[in-house]
Amino acid sequence: MAAKKLPFSKEQIKNIIKIHPTPFHIYDEKAIRENARNFKKAFSWNKGFKEYYAIKAAPNPYLMKILREEGFGIDCSSVAELELAKRVGMSGDEIILTSNDTPAYEFQLAKNLGAIINLDDISHIDFLEENVGLPETICMRYNPGDLKQGNLIIGHPEDAKYGFTHNQIIEGYRILKGKGVKHFGIHTMVASNELDPDYFIETAELLFKLIVEVYEETGVKIEFANLGGGIGIPYKPEEKAVDLEYVSAEIEKLFNKMIVGNGLAPLKIFFELGRAITGPYGYLVTKVRHIKNTYKSFVGLDSCMVDLMRPALYGAYHHISAVGKENEAATEKYDVTGSLCENNDKFAIGRMLPELEPNDIVVIHDAGAHGHSMGFNYNGKLKSAELLLRENGEVTEIRRAETIEDYFATLDFAGLKNFQI
Ligand SMILES: *Cc1c(COP(=O)(O)O)cnc(C)c1O
Repeated sequence: MAAKKLPFSKEQIKNIIKIHPTPFHIYDEKAIRENARNFKKAFSWNKGFKEYYAIKAAPNPYLMKILREEGFGIDCSSVAELELAKRVGMSGDEIILTSNDTPAYEFQLAKNLGAIINLDDISHIDFLEENVGLPETICMRYNPGDLKQGNLIIGHPEDAKYGFTHNQIIEGYRILKGKGVKHFGIHTMVASNELDPDYFIETAELLFKLIVEVYEETGVKIEFANLGGGIGIPYKPEEKAVDLEYVSAEIEKLFNKMIVGNGLAPLKIFFELGRAITGPYGYLVTKVRHIKNTYKSFVGLDSCMVDLMRPALYGAYHHISAVGKENEAATEKYDVTGSLCENNDKFAIGRMLPELEPNDIVVIHDAGAHGHSMGFNYNGKLKSAELLLRENGEVTEIRRAETIEDYFATLDFAGLKNFQI
């Protein structure tokens, strides 16, 4: 069982809290960089390999700047995310737009930035051409339908709203070639938070097979294969991280056989992972506000769903540590709750923990992806600050906490004064 560790001591976090009151998210720069390097190293056999960080996982420019320095690109799926890429100074093939139900202005901004556009549907070929014109490079998203089993979060590929069918994608390459597009990519993403390494090897095989077929059918030589995101992380202490070395070595074998063997090299391998890049290296730091004993025992934190929705949304497990009580026996069974008026605002249900009391520091693990970014302002709850634990132990605030004024910013109280009823 892999112990869930914290990147700071009790003294350290107490000192951080003196300056930055709880709740907040804190990201571990050292661990993020090490992980990024391991990832790149695992796939170094592939010339042109690139991971495009799925920025929706943690859309913070500081994190993106760090990842960019490690050689990562950015995967965007909205105008705001493209704008973030732009403001970090990214452009060209450092950016992929993988969106769906895409508005014309999003395609336009992507094209202005020189980003790689990944189309979600065959009808978007005409839509893109009519609204913004076709770029020289185009990628298309493949939905394998019943050729591939989905997983729990994403569901069956046939039910998913994403991507082209098999016949549509072949037709897509034919059409785009006819329209003078010069460079082509292919993309698929059929899983989310998947821990089975073979799943990603099978996905690569599926895409390589299609790449061969596209070449035979249309003469189009695909230049990059984007294997998507979806590599899971061990949220539970007993789970095992995906072995990247193994995944990479198996993909390399398939690559040599199917791509090199059919004269279709070079082919660049891309990923657009979010969770596996920052997920384990972000922590939600909170304090116990109240202990409540009724029919059950409740720990009320000073945080809530606004900071981490995954437990409420998916029943997801997030490990919880009581700082300074790591060596105490987990004798108490608690529902660990937030303050939102919504009964599923719980970080954990029936979790065994050491006995807690008000003001104890409680850390929720694996909040570094789809954590802060997913929160909403329901019930007037405000988003927390984001901090970065630097490699030298210093702490930088990389996003301030929201204020009540932020929350009211879209309302017009001046107009209300003149509002006659
Ligand atoms: C959400 C998403 C990702 C990232 O998913 P992770 O589970 O964080 O790896 C990548 N690509 C697309 C198209 C997505 O929608």
